[in-house]
Amino acid sequence: MNTPVAAESAPQATPKAVKFVFVTGGVVSSLGKGVAAASLGAVLSARGLVVNMLKLDPYINVDPGTMNPVQHGEVFVTEDGAETDLDLGHYERFIGRKMRRCNNFTTGQIYESVIKRERKGDYLGKTVQVIPHVTDEIKKFIARAVLPEDDIVIVEIGGTVGDIESLPFLEAVRQMRQEKPANETCFVHVTLLPYVPSAGEYKTKPTQHSVRELREIGIMPNILLCRGDDISPENLQKIAMFGNLSPGNVFVAPDVKSVYLLPQQYHADGVDKAVCEVLDIQPPAPDLAQWQDFTTRFNNAEDSVNIAMVGKYVALTDSYKSLTEALHHAGLRQQTRINLSYIDAEELQEDTVAEKLAGHDAVVIPGGFGLRGVEGKLLASRYVRENNIPFLGICIGMQLAVVEFARHCAGLTNAHSTEMMNDTPHPIIAMLTEWQDDSGKQQQHSAEGDLGGTMRLGGETCYLHGKLAEIYGSEQVVERHRHRYEFNNAYRQQLEQAGLIFAAENRNGLVEAIQLPQHPWFFGVQFHPEFTSSPLSGHALFESFIQAARNAQQS
Ligand code: GLN
Repeated sequence: MNTPVAAESAPQATPKAVKFVFVTGGVVSSLGKGVAAASLGAVLSARGLVVNMLKLDPYINVDPGTMNPVQHGEVFVTEDGAETDLDLGHYERFIGRKMRRCNNFTTGQIYESVIKRERKGDYLGKTVQVIPHVTDEIKKFIARAVLPEDDIVIVEIGGTVGDIESLPFLEAVRQMRQEKPANETCFVHVTLLPYVPSAGEYKTKPTQHSVRELREIGIMPNILLCRGDDISPENLQKIAMFGNLSPGNVFVAPDVKSVYLLPQQYHADGVDKAVCEVLDIQPPAPDLAQWQDFTTRFNNAEDSVNIAMVGKYVALTDSYKSLTEALHHAGLRQQTRINLSYIDAEELQEDTVAEKLAGHDAVVIPGGFGLRGVEGKLLASRYVRENNIPFLGICIGMQLAVVEFARHCAGLTNAHSTEMMNDTPHPIIAMLTEWQDDSGKQQQHSAEGDLGGTMRLGGETCYLHGKLAEIYGSEQVVERHRHRYEFNNAYRQQLEQAGLIFAAENRNGLVEAIQLPQHPWFFGVQFHPEFTSSPLSGHALFESFIQAARNAQQS
């Protein structure tokens, strides 16, 4: 079970005074607070500081693993196997540091831990209350994520100021400010300035109210990042005056064409300087050369490719956040723009698949769960196989590509995954109950009554061969997993005889990747390569895929 590690003991005294930047959000949700926090993290890292990041989620679910991606966006999987908020993906991509299970926690985890301790008698007969017991637990969970090498820890508080749910989190960080010297904490509030067309102007009132709301609970923000485009200096002055902030600490945070332009933008605007002043530190000027290089590529992208993503959570593109980003990273490294179309797998029918996929240079089928959309994905993978269209199948995308191959190339009628068809005559993909992880430890899927963390989760070494090893430039790679079903090795020989190549396995011989050799580019991977792609270093598999899409366009 995915039980959070209880913060049993008091946090270790940190050898140096680590400084905290708390990021809150006001007015509305979806302001891009995670990207803002991560971009600030990127500039501070570029100034030579060791930055760590945390996301505090006010909802009661223990983790987002069981939440519908269409509601909550992608579930980001850390290398240590935690199912976390998608903001952790932004953190990894922007600060280039691996996040761990403890970098994200929820109200559900806090209460789970407090209640466990109460049952054990840890509170010695006291009445257990939100203040101080829940807030103390929150502070311990924050302290638990701090590493000895950290200079700055950016703590993003999910939700919007004014929500009932986030109050204990805000109270906990208010206490942290109170307990620490003034130069060890900085509060950054991300808000919105709505544009009212009839008045022809951006309105500051909601922001004023949101700052007032923060002040009412005892938090004086130091810095405001106001989302909105063309905001006048007068408006910023006004906000500073009403919000009791220094005018130089109120910034406009406009929409940008690519989020990766933000680190430079923030630095040009002086956001990092303002944070450093509040924290009373003078780190060297940032080295933004790599981000600059990224901008140059972005501005000079000459080519473009059309990629179709055939999935079932297309109603919210955030459901495929890391994958979308990974495709863009790969594109930019080749100065190629990616035009991505999200195609609803449920809309693909035998007679529409050709038309819907027409005009696309390559197709990707992302991860997914359950029956819905499966028929469409099977049709798409047959179509790309027969028409030599470059294809990347991820997790369920690989599983269904193999099912399709088994049915139409190996004569295994009605082959399927037992996830979709329990009584299939050919369980090509089936639930595996036991395996050994990288360290040789026995692991098992035990789905009974608890859906949290009953999967193969997190980083595991994959042993690659042939073309795939060539693409990666290595015969071993650690990639992250999130699935319950596996390729059934009882069918391996039969499928090999029919022409399928098994391109990678784990240490137990579980299949990690497949390839179709008679095809320009057809790979399926059981793991999720999108979680390890970064804007600055890209990812070998996606780069090869985009290269194949470009080749397809030229041929
Ligand atoms: N539903 C499949 C499984 O559990 C695939 C999961 C995924 O695509 N992430 O094995």
